[in-house]
Order: sequence, then C-alpha cells, then structure tokens
Amino acid sequence: MTLLTFRFAPSPNGELHLGHAYSALLNQKLAKATAGRLLLRIEDIDTTRCTPEFEAGIFRDLRWLGLDWEEPVRRQSEHFDVYEAALDRLIREELVYPAFMSRGDIRAFIADSEKRGRHWPRDPDGVPHYPAQDKALPIKERKRRIADNAPFAWRLDVEAAVARAGKPLAWAEFTDETLGAMRPVEARPRDWGDVIVARREIPTSYHLAVVVDDALQGISRVVRGQDLFSATGVQRLLQEVLGLPQSSYFHHRLILGPDGRKLSKSLGDSGLAALREAGVQPNEISRLVGF
Ligand code: GLU
Repeated sequence: MTLLTFRFAPSPNGELHLGHAYSALLNQKLAKATAGRLLLRIEDIDTTRCTPEFEAGIFRDLRWLGLDWEEPVRRQSEHFDVYEAALDRLIREELVYPAFMSRGDIRAFIADSEKRGRHWPRDPDGVPHYPAQDKALPIKERKRRIADNAPFAWRLDVEAAVARAGKPLAWAEFTDETLGAMRPVEARPRDWGDVIVARREIPTSYHLAVVVDDALQGISRVVRGQDLFSATGVQRLLQEVLGLPQSSYFHHRLILGPDGRKLSKSLGDSGLAALREAGVQPNEISRLVGF
C-alpha cells in the first residue's frame, strides 16, 4: 500500500501565525494517524517578498511547535527549471498568452467599460478579470512587444484550457478534520478569469508551482486553509491540461483574530515568535487553535 503523503507549504514572506500553526499541526496529526508522510515545502518563488530571515523564522517556529517533517525540504526557488518546463508545455499548446496590460491599464479599461454600463466580472477574491484584448493580439505583434522588452505576464486562456480538458472537472473534498468522508466539488476555474501562470522574470506563479510540486512530491492529501478553497478549481484545471495526478483536499477552518478577521502576516501579536517570547508554551498553542 502506498503511504498517504501530506505537506505543509508556507511562504517565507512574513512570520508564521496561529493560522499556520493550526495548518501545520493538523497536517502532522493526520500524517501520524495514518502512518503517512509529512513534507515541508518552502514556497518562495516571489523573490522580492521572500527572505532568508523569514525562512529561518519558519524553521524555528515549526521546530518549537514540535513539527517533524522529512528531509530534504523542497525550496521552490531551487526548481524554476521544472516549472519552466511546465510553462513551455502550456505555451506550446497555446493555453497561455502574453498579457501586456499594466494594473493601471486594466483599471482604466474596466472603468471605461463600466461607465458604459457593462458589468465587469470579478474573481472570488474580488479582483476584476483580465480583459480579453491581449488574447486576440496577432502573433507578430506579440513577438514585437516581447522583443521590445515590454513587461508581460503569461496568463492562462481559461476558455481554451476548459475546452482542452473537454469534460466538467471536480475534485474530492473531505468533509471534516478526520478525513473520514469525501464529497465531489465542481471545479469552477472560469470564476478566476485568465489567471497569471508565470511572469516574464519568474517562470511560474503560485498556481503552477503548487500543482507541479504536489504531483512531483506525490502529495495525496492537500490539507490547507479555507481561503484556498476556490483556487482549487484553477489548480484542478492545470492538473488536467498538464496531465498531472490529482490529490484529494481538505480546506480547513481559518483561525480568526480577536476582531473576527483572517490573521495576516503583519499581525504581530498572533505571530508565533511573539507568543513564544511572551512565554506561551507549544502545548498552549495547540489548545489555542482548538486541538
Ligand atoms: N504557500 C501558500 C501560503 O502560504 C499555501 C499554498 C498551499 O497550501 O497550497 O499561503
């Protein structure tokens, strides 16, 4: 029988907080309960926001919490070539296109269209969809702009990808923390519009790196926060068009701050390092997050 494989995949772009502690400890608990594996993955593709100091903080906090993971730890910034190969495939198969509009261009375009009474679609995070213009640019014009060093991002042509998948997609979602039962969830990648899959200077994005790594590392159970629930629809589509295996998912509850809002990495007082310095013990952290 193959072992179940879990992973905790933080980004070193801030300090870990109670929400991360819950996610890490839940993954550990499930791996132990099933005699499975627990991997740690450092998601540091954003080389402008991720720092070695934050990464060191992650290791320090997780060791303090008593997490134990298999070595070696996969650091995404060491595998850009792997993501680039997946991107090349999407380029070859014409499932992505270079998108040249800056944030300002997008805003102006949408404002103009809304002024004329058109309702503009927004993604589940409230971000307006990318306008379709660039999808229609002639190849010659794309090449000219790229040769001229115009900034751009590779965006998924979600319609083309959905058509390529050729069937409705779904993923298996566990219904509670014990991972006792699953239900199918319809993947709705169109809700996100044409998401960014890579940037000119970084040959990947969060979505692309996650599906490539989950497949490469044989992750069978993705246990992560509810905030990523609908992003799973895009990831499911990418798995399908890249021919990658699927995992099963559990999107767990979020730990909220005293104000009832999602914790953010800039919230000092729910940061694990601050709690440790204030004398809080690791077993109290488990209790604080509801174990
Ligand atoms: N790296 C992501 C984060 O820190 C989590 C990715 C995932 O679990 O799929 O929010």
